[in-house]
Amino acid sequence: MNIQFFGACKTVTGSQHLITIKDKKILLECGFYQGLREDAERINRNFPYDPKSIDAMILSHAHIDHSGNIPNLIKRGFMGKIYCTHATKSLVEVILEDSARIQVYDVEYLNEKNCQNLEPIYTPNDVAPVIERLIGKEYGEWFNVTNGVRAYFQDAGHILGSALTTLELNEDVLTKRLGFTGDIGRKFLPILRDPEQIANVNYLITESTYGDHLHDDARTSYKSLANAINNTFIKGGKVIIPSFALERAQELVYIIHELIDTNQIPDNFVYIDSPLAVKISGIFAGYLNLVDKETREIFLSKNKNPFIFTKLRFIESAEDSKKLNSINESCIIISASGMCEFGRIRHHLKNNLGNSKNTVIIVGFMAENTLGRRLLDGERQVNILNERINVKAKIIVLNSLSAHADQKDLIEFIHNAGALEKLFLVHGEEKSLNVLADKIQKEDVDEVIIPDFGEKVDL
Ligand SMILES: [Zn+2]
Repeated sequence: MNIQFFGACKTVTGSQHLITIKDKKILLECGFYQGLREDAERINRNFPYDPKSIDAMILSHAHIDHSGNIPNLIKRGFMGKIYCTHATKSLVEVILEDSARIQVYDVEYLNEKNCQNLEPIYTPNDVAPVIERLIGKEYGEWFNVTNGVRAYFQDAGHILGSALTTLELNEDVLTKRLGFTGDIGRKFLPILRDPEQIANVNYLITESTYGDHLHDDARTSYKSLANAINNTFIKGGKVIIPSFALERAQELVYIIHELIDTNQIPDNFVYIDSPLAVKISGIFAGYLNLVDKETREIFLSKNKNPFIFTKLRFIESAEDSKKLNSINESCIIISASGMCEFGRIRHHLKNNLGNSKNTVIIVGFMAENTLGRRLLDGERQVNILNERINVKAKIIVLNSLSAHADQKDLIEFIHNAGALEKLFLVHGEEKSLNVLADKIQKEDVDEVIIPDFGEKVDL
């Protein structure tokens, strides 16, 4: 048996790992590579293996860098089933429809601008066949993936429905256990239960997004967010928060709801300006059985829905979104996309970055070469929608809400995973991977591997 790595190698996007055991092939994730347009087109359009040869797929969670190329996989001949949790199944449908719409829109824009004749990698019509293949599974139950392979999901505490996977691989008389983290969350994140632990595995593939970084405690995010909001409102400014529509937007609503209820911030209007975030908030409301005990105590036991309060407004139409520009009083606008590369957030940043009364709060990971990263890096001039904008608004970085384990969490997770023969570090930028590899205790792992794209390793 062996594993070959086709994504998230020395980068944080495009996760795809292919396990071969005898004549069976199992794909872990089928993520979209996100980055420079030419790179994304080259990497996402064609697969470095034959999709027809894959027997089954495991999907850890609904984020696009893990799920985004599944419609293309099926277009190219993949015939098998895709195993994920029930919540991931619900979320991935709306995430892929949104991704398809963005691709169609982007291609139409480019074709018109450059007189080209490009085709989107997939369209909304390609999403329905994905939904037919998704098989929802419970956490904590073994299930058969294909001949000789069983799998078991645990809660990864990263986003709703996210799973840590343990695979039991049986080849003749040899049985090996392989753990795959997908993305690992953290303790004390709002809404989500704390991550569980993969144990007794021979091999572990772990994400390493923050292998070189220590976060502030997630519990400090409430105080930091309240301070940033109060300091902006005192000046009469607006708070703009670029946010992923999935999970982060719902967490922000949850925290702001609690801050208002406990009188830590005034109850000014809060706008969620993202049709996708609106849909996803509806899905969250259907999975309240998965929330943590704090959410039960603070909201559910008092018959309160964390995602509804008096001055919360969900904005769906483009017309209503534009109206937000003319609002003069202090308010909070949460909008997508998370890294500010597309979507309505770009309009809000264009309209608000030039005013020193306003604050932009960066609450998520910003990949290299994104507008979000340029703001995070403190650039004082940025290009948005073909305009050069002077950045006068205050930029605040709030790392405590990160949905990814930090260096300490990762080292602890690896330590508790078992006596590892091989540890694979993926889903991290190069510096982060190298720093983490250096920190891993020698007695925990026989061999640490940072795979290159296409690298094959025997198991
Ligand atoms: Zn993720």
